[in-house]
Amino acid sequence: MKQDPNCIFCKIVAGDIPCAKVLEDEASLGFVDIGPLAKGHLLLIPKEHHETADLMPAEMAGAVLSHVPALVRAVQTVTGCEGVNVLQNNGRIAHQVVPHVHFHIIPRRSGDEFHFNWPAGSYAEGEIDQVARAIRDELRG
Ligand code: AMP
Ligand code: ZN
Repeated sequence: MKQDPNCIFCKIVAGDIPCAKVLEDEASLGFVDIGPLAKGHLLLIPKEHHETADLMPAEMAGAVLSHVPALVRAVQTVTGCEGVNVLQNNGRIAHQVVPHVHFHIIPRRSGDEFHFNWPAGSYAEGEIDQVARAIRDELRG
C-alpha cells in the first residue's frame, strides 16, 4: 500500500499518531476531526496515500465513498444536526491543508458559524453546451 512517511494521515493509518476512530475497513478510515467546524465533524480517508481525489483509483474512491451514507446518518442521529456538508478540498487553492485526500462530514445547524461565499454566476447563450461538450470529450479521452 502506497504510504508517505511524512504524511500525518498516513501516520494515523499506521497507528503512529492516535485518532478518535469511528470506522475502519480494508480501504478506509473514518475519524473525528481535531479542529471541528462543529462537534461531530468527521474525516473519511483512504488508507492508501493519494494526495488529491483525481489521483485516487476509481475503485478505491468507490470503496471509501460507500461509507458516506452511513456516516451522514450516524452524525445526524448523534448530533441532532439539521443538515450535513460532505466536502473535499482538492488542492491548496481549494483550502486543502493536509495532502492526503480526505472527505469532511460536517454537521450543520441554522445560525452556525460556517458560511460559504458562493458567488453563483451564469452562462452566455450556448456557453453551457460548449462547456459540457468539452468535458464530455475529455472524459471520453
Ligand atoms: P483540509 O483543509 O481539507 O486539508 O482539512 C484538514 C483537516 O484535518 C482539518 O479540518 C484539521 O482539523 C484536520 N486534522 C489535521 N490533523 C488532524 C489529526 N491529527 N487528527 C484529526 N484531524 C486532523
Ligand atoms: Zn498520507
